[in-house]
Amino acid sequence: MGELVERLRAGLPDGAVAVDPDVTAAYARDMAGFCAAGDPAVLVFPETVEQVQFVLRTASELRVPVVPQGARTGLSGGANAVDGCVLLSLTRMDRILRIDPVDRIAVVQPGVVNAELSRAAEALGLAYPPDPSSWESCTIGGNIGTGAGGLCCVKYGVTAEYVLGLDVVLADGQLLRTGRRTAKGVAGYDLTRLLVGSEGTLGVVVEAVLALRPAPGPQLVLAAEFDSVDAAGEAVCAVVAAGHTPSLMELMDATTVRAVNEMARMGLPESTRALLLVAFDGPDRRERLAAVGELCAAAGATAVVPAEDRAESELLLQARRLSLPALERLGTTMIDDVAVPRSALAAMLNGVAEIADRHRLTIGVVSHAGDGNTHPVVIFDARDEDETARARRSFDEIMALGLELGGTVTGEHGIGLLKREWLARELGPAGLELQRRIKAAFDPLGILNPGKVL
Ligand SMILES: Cc1cc2nc3c(=O)[nH]c(=O)nc-3n(C[C@H](O)[C@H](O)[C@H](O)COP(=O)(O)OP(=O)(O)OC[C@H]3O[C@@H](n4cnc5c(N)ncnc54)[C@H](O)[C@@H]3O)c2cc1C
Repeated sequence: MGELVERLRAGLPDGAVAVDPDVTAAYARDMAGFCAAGDPAVLVFPETVEQVQFVLRTASELRVPVVPQGARTGLSGGANAVDGCVLLSLTRMDRILRIDPVDRIAVVQPGVVNAELSRAAEALGLAYPPDPSSWESCTIGGNIGTGAGGLCCVKYGVTAEYVLGLDVVLADGQLLRTGRRTAKGVAGYDLTRLLVGSEGTLGVVVEAVLALRPAPGPQLVLAAEFDSVDAAGEAVCAVVAAGHTPSLMELMDATTVRAVNEMARMGLPESTRALLLVAFDGPDRRERLAAVGELCAAAGATAVVPAEDRAESELLLQARRLSLPALERLGTTMIDDVAVPRSALAAMLNGVAEIADRHRLTIGVVSHAGDGNTHPVVIFDARDEDETARARRSFDEIMALGLELGGTVTGEHGIGLLKREWLARELGPAGLELQRRIKAAFDPLGILNPGKVL
């Protein structure tokens, strides 16, 4: 290990290499529960593409694993250390290199924080739509690593739809340029799409060309209360079937509503079983919202409350963004991420409630309802062995239920360490074997984020 650190110190600037065990341990894991983290050998903070290439070349020569990291807000253990690894933090490569209103692209380094890019684009009348709730801290590199989604993806799509091209350092240190800088292009296999969501196992993103959109203008939000999940699910389906494309359609259950009120005193309605937030951002947003209000009432909403203005809308969005942090205050949490066809949303939520009852657990659920993407959050006391075992079982049963309903075990958080065995079930043997061969083609020595995903 001495040689690794010596060589990294010789090739990187002062302050770019940390070996203090307290410091490296502080970077050893992301925000996922139930995921082991190994003991890293060294933590490095490159500032240039050449420095990343140097780190990968050195690691390849010495056969040392490398774990790329953004802000470590991930929820699947994807950024967790493996024993003896180089933790490669991209957080100091944090410059927005270009925003071009004519080509409608942004060229950014991987450590740029999502919200900073969004604000920089907005200042020029443009938007970078993918907006994970963690947008104030997560990085574009991490968003590309996981294929992140977010609140407005129901209308604007997920990260993959915005990544036009990538500069990627491969395991042996070579620099690969994928994709395009043009509005269209179909040359060769789509390696860009393959790299999005590859969780640091195929290469290290050092620059990204991202598509921007014209800024959509402010959203107007409506809150609808339901006394059953079935009615809320029916409303979601009715909105889509009527031809509306809201810019946001989120569902919070009673546990989540109470948790947010306790944390932020938001005054959300606590008697509701399901609180549906629907937003539109176009010039016809008031008319659309009124139409959706009627559809919610027809589906059985007990109250329909449109926000009066932008400030009230922002408050409701803030309540939704606080959902996960608020649930985390109730105990130790395992955050699931199962996406089902929109039409199966109510069945999924009822199934989760049945699992919670059977295991005598609290499971708060917050959902990107318009995408059928649910986040059941299993809450338990980690000091209680029996309860912890029940939490683990319920987490697995939730994924099994998702697959049964025609869904996927992860809509946006990725596989990481947490869901490896579930990926095998979802892909089947042929799919898994082909994915392993793809991994081997990119990383024959298996040094990039080993033990993750596959
Ligand atoms: C409160 C909260 C709310 C959240 N809400 C959402 C949400 O709405 N939608 C959503 O999708 N996620 C959400 N997340 C999860 C998380 O924020 C996302 O997965 C995010 O994309 C991770 O970004 P990061 O910078 O923290 O990456 P990290 O956690 O550091 O890394 C994530 C993965 O990407 C890889 N990686 C990081 N940088 C690079 C790079 N430069 N090159 C190659 N691989 C790289 C890592 O190896 C790892 O596998 C939430 C998390 C929290 C804590």
